[in-house]
Amino acid sequence: MRGAWTLLLAGLAACAPVADGGPVDVGRDAGGPAVDAARDAVPPPDAAPDGARDGAVDGGVDAAPDAREDAAPADAGPPDARPEDAAPGWSAHLGLGPVALGDEITVDVPPEATSALVQARGRRGGLYAIVDVTGPDGPRTGPAPGDGPWRTSANPEVAVALWPGADDAPLAPGRYQLRVISAGPEADPVEVEVWLKAGARRLAVDVFFPPAGGRTADDPALARMALALEGALEALVGVPVEATLRALDPAAPAALALDTRRGDLAALDALADATPPDAPGGIAVYVMVDVTDGGVSQSGFSGGLPAPFGLPGTAASVIAIRSPLLDDFPQAVADLAVHELGHGLGLYHTTEPYGDRHDPIADTAECPLACDRDGDGVLFASECGGQGRGMPPCQGAADNLMFWTLGGRRDATPGQRRVVQGHPAIAP
Ligand SMILES: [Zn+2]
Repeated sequence: MRGAWTLLLAGLAACAPVADGGPVDVGRDAGGPAVDAARDAVPPPDAAPDGARDGAVDGGVDAAPDAREDAAPADAGPPDARPEDAAPGWSAHLGLGPVALGDEITVDVPPEATSALVQARGRRGGLYAIVDVTGPDGPRTGPAPGDGPWRTSANPEVAVALWPGADDAPLAPGRYQLRVISAGPEADPVEVEVWLKAGARRLAVDVFFPPAGGRTADDPALARMALALEGALEALVGVPVEATLRALDPAAPAALALDTRRGDLAALDALADATPPDAPGGIAVYVMVDVTDGGVSQSGFSGGLPAPFGLPGTAASVIAIRSPLLDDFPQAVADLAVHELGHGLGLYHTTEPYGDRHDPIADTAECPLACDRDGDGVLFASECGGQGRGMPPCQGAADNLMFWTLGGRRDATPGQRRVVQGHPAIAP
């Protein structure tokens, strides 16, 4: 297992490159550093970005997710569904307490639940994953992240799994078993909790910015970006979105500098520490002056794939984007935010850079390696039908917002909407 994890750490997620008007960075963004094996391969550093992104955007948010209300302390026991949740939807929270790494964990999913988010909080600096998930329908994931129909990822500090992990069938009620593993020598137990729910009513997103970047909460460009984010995110999640601008602690760094090839994700901790202690903890995006990996600018980075719920101040909850285009193209920055938040809400890239992996969602177009016209081994948007060009199967695959890089339209599918609506950040 150690060997598999080494590979896993070596291949951190690469995401949508950003276009800056200039050179682009092949960004990783996605799911973050944590990654699951193969989540997204990093394209060669000199790969040229192709194309422009289209921007969508988001708006500032502010509200706290309602779901958070029932984040009760976890005690083992039956789900504590609250009667008032019955009106708009249904939700429950299970606290399973501290569990030793590698031990079998049992989760009983009641018939009312249409989705479940399992999260296990470990220590700072650790990298964790949920594996060996078996449910009423049999094995869902294998012994390593990335295995099985319900692919999972390794996340920094908090392991997270969103069920169902694919859109081929509703979440089956009944007994599930899983284990939490670590990439390092961790010996301490992890704190396990489960969010269960049915329904999707609204989404509140915090938009954090570092005062050291020279902006304030009344910055017009930030406000435009937040508004654009609300619109673009609504197109993905299918429910009203409210974005609230919030300043990070003045000591927060203006840029996020990671080195995933060396397994160095410590910069996520600095942003987690600079997160306001009263942050709602639903889901958030950090608008940074720059995001770099090994010194190379990236479009963004999502600490968790998916992100945990109700744990602001953890590395896995940090979803960051870079924003050099903020003043002139707030919509483009908002588009980046939607892609990264898509990772945070449970979406993988529809096609990874090398064409070797695709998301587990049936209705998202996949771009096969046969579309690599220039033979460089990397599938760019121009080769996968960005903007509707090309011929099948190389047409339209790059027009999804979760294609690994920008250059096409920013479409979302019903299958993607079903997956993200299962995340508890979308209040039931
Ligand atoms: Zn990505």
